[in-house]
Amino acid sequence: MISAKDISKAADLLLSGELVAFPTETVYGLGALATDDKAVARIYAAKGRPTFNPLISHVPDVEAAFALGEFSGDALKLAARFWPGPLTLVVPRWSTCTVSLLASAGLSSLAIRVPQHPIALELLRVVGKPVVAPSANPSGRISPTTAQHVRDGLGNKVSMILDGGPCAVGVESTVVSFLEGKATLLRPGGLPRETIEDALGFRLLDADTGVMHSPGQMESHYAPHAAMRLNAETAMTDEAYLGFGNFDGAHNLSPSGDVVEAAANLFRMLHELDATKPERIAVAPIPMGGLGEAINDRLKRAAAPR
Ligand code: AMP
Ligand code: MG
Repeated sequence: MISAKDISKAADLLLSGELVAFPTETVYGLGALATDDKAVARIYAAKGRPTFNPLISHVPDVEAAFALGEFSGDALKLAARFWPGPLTLVVPRWSTCTVSLLASAGLSSLAIRVPQHPIALELLRVVGKPVVAPSANPSGRISPTTAQHVRDGLGNKVSMILDGGPCAVGVESTVVSFLEGKATLLRPGGLPRETIEDALGFRLLDADTGVMHSPGQMESHYAPHAAMRLNAETAMTDEAYLGFGNFDGAHNLSPSGDVVEAAANLFRMLHELDATKPERIAVAPIPMGGLGEAINDRLKRAAAPR
């Protein structure tokens, strides 16, 4: 049994930037404080994800969700009807949204969900801030539906695992995006498409026929306005410079050369540099190990011809 003391310990760990696995009705989530760049970076490192997939921000109620993003009438209808539940809504982030840009993989949208599980909800209430939580399994492995699955896959990478028994739904949430006036099914999941369409009174677009917003689809990824030059040891005169390791400047992804720290800073610093409207952003070489692969993947996409 999970006690109030366990919840309070888990909340403290999350608030101090640690990873905590917790049960939801879909699958076990690998939780991190959504507003903490470094904590979010730790998720990608722990899962060994080769790219930065955007993550779902979990909140305890509709009001907390409204504080993060802009809900259209239809999005609101689904939130009111199906939350808490296995439905994730992707909406435009408010410009004031404090969720780490790394959690949205640099997109201007945010995926939000209110899970239907007493332990998850209590934890989210005590934390009082959004918690990102992808499935608590190493990348490419099967999603965990028991605490033992989490222990087997990520046991040494999480500070605490809240054991709430087996998950009732057992598959991930259905993901529906409400962007640019279109309702699109991005991922089938625990809430059937037909149920959602009945509630809306119209059909959902499919991700492959509608406008694409999912990760891995180049055009939806954040690209700065400025051109990008990668593997640049130094900046030229018309360039803003994003450093890594031994470099003395305002924008250094990680002075100590730590790729987890670099991942935590990546999207925020790109945004900051882009806001100064440089002709070009030159980026220092980033090593490939660990999260370095995802960082380089992301940089390559941002630098791709457009
Ligand atoms: P997981 O956290 O592993 O359950 O996966 C999260 C799912 O939500 C993935 O399918 C993502 O593609 C999707 N997702 C999260 N954020 C966004 C976003 N901003 N735009 C589009 N899809 C998103
Ligand atoms: Mg997963």
